[in-house]
Amino acid sequence: MSDAEEYREGRILRSTGSWYDVETSEGVVPSKVRGKFRLEDTRQTNPTVVGDRVTIRMVEDDTGLITAIHPRDNQLVRRAAGRRIGMEHVLAANIDHAWVVQSVRKPKINTGFVDRFLVMCEAFEIPAGLVINKIDLMRPADEAAVFEICDVYADIGYPVLPVSAETGENVDVLAEALQDSVSVFAGGSGVGKSTLLNAIEPGLQLRTGRVSDRTQKGKHTTTFASLLPLSQGGYVVDTPGVREYGLVAIEPYELGHYFPEFRPYLHECRFPTCTHDHEPGCAVVDALEQEIIDPVRYSSYVNMLHSVQAGEADVGR
Ligand code: GDP
Ligand code: ZN
Repeated sequence: MSDAEEYREGRILRSTGSWYDVETSEGVVPSKVRGKFRLEDTRQTNPTVVGDRVTIRMVEDDTGLITAIHPRDNQLVRRAAGRRIGMEHVLAANIDHAWVVQSVRKPKINTGFVDRFLVMCEAFEIPAGLVINKIDLMRPADEAAVFEICDVYADIGYPVLPVSAETGENVDVLAEALQDSVSVFAGGSGVGKSTLLNAIEPGLQLRTGRVSDRTQKGKHTTTFASLLPLSQGGYVVDTPGVREYGLVAIEPYELGHYFPEFRPYLHECRFPTCTHDHEPGCAVVDALEQEIIDPVRYSSYVNMLHSVQAGEADVGR
């Protein structure tokens, strides 16, 4: 290397605590964060995250030093573990799509989970959609209820994709939706996230387990977040903790804005401070009574409102 300092632009693919794998046009460079950055934003436990676009300065042993983190389009944040008041843990940055995955059965669809995740995506301005997996397990008795749930979310404007990782049905459609973008998958354990991703990209799990060479072991754990490159182009964010997000710092009056189907009514309520709970003259409740707003969505809203009011929930930004 010449005496001139060499800088490269890249994207953080993986973090292993103190090292970050930065993908550049000339390959992946294991990099460290310049000590100073670690202290700059005291609200965040981890100022540098997967998905971040960074500038690195090459150092002599072909590793990098992260010298700049570029402004993020968006970020997925959850309350820091251990309930450290006001602390945020950023899970990933610059996300193009978030998919909440549920299964028809084993386990059955949890609309409360779906709605919390969608609210978080609205708050973080991450386009979201719903994947209903295991449609091969659908029994005639389940059909009406499952289709109704699909219709509710599709009517709101969220893409809804029924798939089967088992039979491969619609997996190609999902694969196409992931192409050339950074996608996040969320969903309770057992809904089939790993199986689906492996159906899209066989061998992905191997890569998931492969920790950077310097740690020696290729453990099949995902303690640290990573961006998994797809051979068709694009990345899937593989991060622990997406499931345990909380809603950070949402004010009760804001929550309604994160339910897109409530938006046309929010300014029609009698009281400008209406929380659409028990207030008289509430246009959201009128829409509910006219069956324009789905009762299950509305009850998710009320549940979230009560936890926000009790100071239990948080959605940071
Ligand atoms: P994850 O926890 O969301 O990653 O779920 P897994 O991918 O580990 O899947 C949980 C279980 O569901 C496994 O036994 C899978 O074989 C099974 N599974 C996943 N997708 C499907 C599907 O489309 N149909 C059926 N019948 N089983 C599935
Ligand atoms: Zn109202």
